[in-house]
Amino acid sequence: MYNIVADCSDNVPTRYLVNDACVLSGKPLVSASALRMEGQLTVYNYRGGPCYRCLYPKPPPPETVTNCSDGGVLGVVPGIMGCFQALEVLKIASGQGSSCGQQLLMFDAQDVKFRSIRLRPKQASCAVCGENPTVTHLVDYEKFCGSAATDKCRRLNLLSKDQRVSVQEYKSIMDHTAAHLLLDVRPLVEVDICHLPTSLNIPLSSLENRNSEHIHVLKERIGQVKEQMSSESQVPVYVICKLGNDSQKAVQVLERMSGSEVDCVTAKDICGGLMAWAQKIDPSFPQY
Ligand SMILES: [Zn+2]
Repeated sequence: MYNIVADCSDNVPTRYLVNDACVLSGKPLVSASALRMEGQLTVYNYRGGPCYRCLYPKPPPPETVTNCSDGGVLGVVPGIMGCFQALEVLKIASGQGSSCGQQLLMFDAQDVKFRSIRLRPKQASCAVCGENPTVTHLVDYEKFCGSAATDKCRRLNLLSKDQRVSVQEYKSIMDHTAAHLLLDVRPLVEVDICHLPTSLNIPLSSLENRNSEHIHVLKERIGQVKEQMSSESQVPVYVICKLGNDSQKAVQVLERMSGSEVDCVTAKDICGGLMAWAQKIDPSFPQY
């Protein structure tokens, strides 16, 4: 027997599953989440307010979802959000009630700021809580979302075999000082924690958005490597990130840019990223 549900899950399929179960059983859903330096809190399906599906009728494309193992999270942030979540559960349980029913609390840990935004109301067209629901029992949520109900790192496989090198192969390239560019595509906050000494940091998002300042630096560095090369061949660019997913996306972006936006390059992904480097090459390299 239960009356209130707290969603502390870390993936999209579970969020839809818990939401639908709460709507179908008429229970309020106290939902909290955290990623990097940000947290969010709201109560769904509460006193006529919207449910999760009212706000997100369609699951996001799986490749656009950043989970905590890819994106990172500062452990204190989920701790703070968890406390607020517990507070709302206790307020509802004790009859005082929550004011988060149509409101989203957002916490920015970087600037230590809270903001509250009003959510859009319950939607008459909602598939589960609307006027003509099409979801009347729990369905296959992994199928619905196209992703697994886990936060564990999805291993993307976007590239062909010849577009990837292992950390061992990269180690030997590095040791034999062949002219190349090592591009680290993690966010700066992670690069500050640890990085390989020769790497150039341009976050994946800057590549994707063609951030002009970053692209300028990239062009310059590619030009420098080209000068060191004796032959006229393409500049080898090795791309690394934490786990080897973002680096694959970056290789694809670089290939589109090669020969037009930047000099011709041959971009390759370093499989498994810096965590594979820490495990297989340099045990003293920080794992985070
Ligand atoms: Zn709804």
